[in-house]
Amino acid sequence: MHGMTGKQILVVEDEQPIREMIAFSLRRAGFLVREAENCRVAREQLVDRRPDLVLLDWMLPDMSGLELAKLLKRDKDTRELPIILLTARAEETDKVAGLEGGADDYMTKPFSPRELVARINAVLRRSGPGGGEDRIECEGLALDRASHRVTAGDRTVLLGPTEYRMLEFFMTHPERVYSREQLLDRVWGGNVYVEERTIDVHIRRLRKALAEHGRDSLIQTVRGAGYRFSALAH
Ligand code: CA
Repeated sequence: MHGMTGKQILVVEDEQPIREMIAFSLRRAGFLVREAENCRVAREQLVDRRPDLVLLDWMLPDMSGLELAKLLKRDKDTRELPIILLTARAEETDKVAGLEGGADDYMTKPFSPRELVARINAVLRRSGPGGGEDRIECEGLALDRASHRVTAGDRTVLLGPTEYRMLEFFMTHPERVYSREQLLDRVWGGNVYVEERTIDVHIRRLRKALAEHGRDSLIQTVRGAGYRFSALAH
């Protein structure tokens, strides 16, 4: 069972053997994994770089996973972050409390790595921008989230992971201008130290990849403002 390659999962679990087992299974499935042993460390990691999904244990030493889930759902920066709660308890009332607390899914220990990967993939698919569509099409470009492939007609557009994320963001937010700062925040995640001219480098690479398929004009420079993905001429 393969995960969505390149997606970053934050695993919050205080029991080290369980955390390591989960992290190992997820890495083997192709996910990028970061680990936190309590809520404090998890919150630091969330500020550092926003993951694509949080696997959150219910019973943690400093604050319950449910409380953390509620906090994340109240904060506009993390409101859309998908959360899967893990628990050792199988009671239906816990499940309801977990889902009402803002979790997107709920898993009872023990679970198989295969089931975990399948559930993560399902939540990521549902929660992606663009209403959870697997496939986004625009101007003859097709971006398939399940396989992380971009095609122009029947040819594959070869992209690095950052260019892929950038294109995914642009295709789900077309016809709007984004400043470099906004792109940094939305594509790279908050509080990451990346110089703004790095954006220009990735834009150039993305254009170069699209140019091989005659689609580079979709990425437009808006002088003094930033960049826009648009099928319309300047
Ligand atoms: Ca625990």
